[in-house]
Amino acid sequence: MYKLKKHHTIYKMSANNSPALQVPSGSAIVFDTCDCFEDQISLEDSDFSGIDWNHINPATGPLYVEGAQPGDLLLVHIDSIEVATTGVMTTGPRLGVFGDELEHNYLKHISVENDHLHFSKHITLPIRPMVGVIGTAPADGESVPCGTPGQHGGNMDCRRITTGSTLVLPVSVSGALLAIGDLHATMGDGEVAVCGVEIAGSVTVRVEVLKGKSWPVPMLFDSERIVTIASAQTLDEASTIAAANMVEWLTSECQMAKEEAIFLLSAVADVRICQMVDPLRTARVELPRSSLASYSLPL
Ligand code: CA
Ligand code: CA
Repeated sequence: MYKLKKHHTIYKMSANNSPALQVPSGSAIVFDTCDCFEDQISLEDSDFSGIDWNHINPATGPLYVEGAQPGDLLLVHIDSIEVATTGVMTTGPRLGVFGDELEHNYLKHISVENDHLHFSKHITLPIRPMVGVIGTAPADGESVPCGTPGQHGGNMDCRRITTGSTLVLPVSVSGALLAIGDLHATMGDGEVAVCGVEIAGSVTVRVEVLKGKSWPVPMLFDSERIVTIASAQTLDEASTIAAANMVEWLTSECQMAKEEAIFLLSAVADVRICQMVDPLRTARVELPRSSLASYSLPL
């Protein structure tokens, strides 16, 4: 199996990044990833004032996928996620939903054992590993910091990006230039403190080039649902775009009349928050797969 070690670090999704590895479509690759602080916080640390802010939100990559050309789509099947034995959470002034109320920085170490998090003396949580940052390079000339989400993917902090799901991303440059980072041992929708349980680890994915489809990506498919994901200045805008994208997909892929697609969303789809703390906000629309049981779905 191919492997990308975590010293292949990028801080921006850009066509200017040299590929760290080149693989044929259909390959499986392990991405080793740092946590979002590039592993700068150690167990001995009781605050995070000493970290180098030029080294946050790294992503491992980029991966050049042979045959991927602008206009194609890249399927990223998430086969498995392994996380390290300790995660970290941070919050403080100007960070997250409560940034105006906090006067100090706070740091919390959380150990992981037997697939559970020792959150506190009284609270144990099951791990729910997910990928925070995953994206392709935007079209030539653009470069997007890894901490920002967008149409290329990036820092979407969508907890549906987990084992068993297939994320669909745009291919805007030759090879797609996929990069992955920012694993969370668990995260609630919204990510209100500005973080999940941030943790290093590794993600095993299979990449596949899909030609001849112009879907409104990013999209995600798992065993239960079809998801559109969108990022914008506000959650209102992001959720409106995600809903419009789902309607567009239903009309083009399932030949559904537009008003029928709108009714279907209103009847069974859920509009959910991914995160409300990054430079752009991210929302998603989840349509139950069961509602399309009589359609032959592409994924
Ligand atoms: Ca993130
Ligand atoms: Ca994170």
